[in-house]
Amino acid sequence: MRRALLPASVLACLSACATAPAPSPRSAPAAPPAPAAPIGYTDTPLLPDGYHVHDPRRQPPPVVDAPGTADLLVPPPPGATVLFDGHDASAWLGEDGQPARWALVDGALEINGTGSIHTREAFGDCQLHIEWRTPEVVKGESQERGNSGVFLMSRYEVQVLDSYDNRTYADGQAAALYGQRAPRRNASRPPGEWQSYDITFHVPRFADGLLAAPAHVTVRHNGIPVHDDELFLGATVHRQLAAYTAHEPEAPLMLQDHGDPVRYRNVWIVRLP
Ligand code: MG
Repeated sequence: MRRALLPASVLACLSACATAPAPSPRSAPAAPPAPAAPIGYTDTPLLPDGYHVHDPRRQPPPVVDAPGTADLLVPPPPGATVLFDGHDASAWLGEDGQPARWALVDGALEINGTGSIHTREAFGDCQLHIEWRTPEVVKGESQERGNSGVFLMSRYEVQVLDSYDNRTYADGQAAALYGQRAPRRNASRPPGEWQSYDITFHVPRFADGLLAAPAHVTVRHNGIPVHDDELFLGATVHRQLAAYTAHEPEAPLMLQDHGDPVRYRNVWIVRLP
């Protein structure tokens, strides 16, 4: 059988490659462009498990499907305090203590650059249900994509991020205890779809100004368990090692304005005895 002839263009390339001089170090190919946003840090303090805070080498958790969550709006149980029902945002204040100024859009509260908001009421041990949605139109990558956060007691963050096919440091992806603990699974839904957190939170206890018992938290993301009675190492910080400072036994819930138009809806909370 005859062998196929190579096209002239391929022969020309082979000829050029065969006669081209070996590249000098100066003519080596340029390094690929750096990503627009960093995906981690190795110059940060070490966490108890030996990884740096926001360590890019920490393996991301496995991606899992979260079926049956497309139609959230889980109704509040009897005794729950409804913090946002799709219409009334009066439970929320801005950083200036005035009524929250996030936009009311299609039955949701949308971040609009007016700063983080917090509840008028303070809460201690609690069970929180909250639904959130990152922008349908994807802009940016890593931490610059649908970033917000649920701050328990205005201090302890369960990260909100578009973590659907968006690599970032694992302790900063959706449902991470930011900068402290990655979720066990990535149960993220695509951008533009509603997602939920169900959070059971126990406040830290202090005695004589010293930590007596750390805060701990159980989280389900879109119904999938991602933290099981996990400890917070302290109040959330960026690029630092979290630590505790004594504070009051109850404090407002805070939602973070990180500059991205993330939406929230159907927020309710149950005080635990
Ligand atoms: Mg955040």
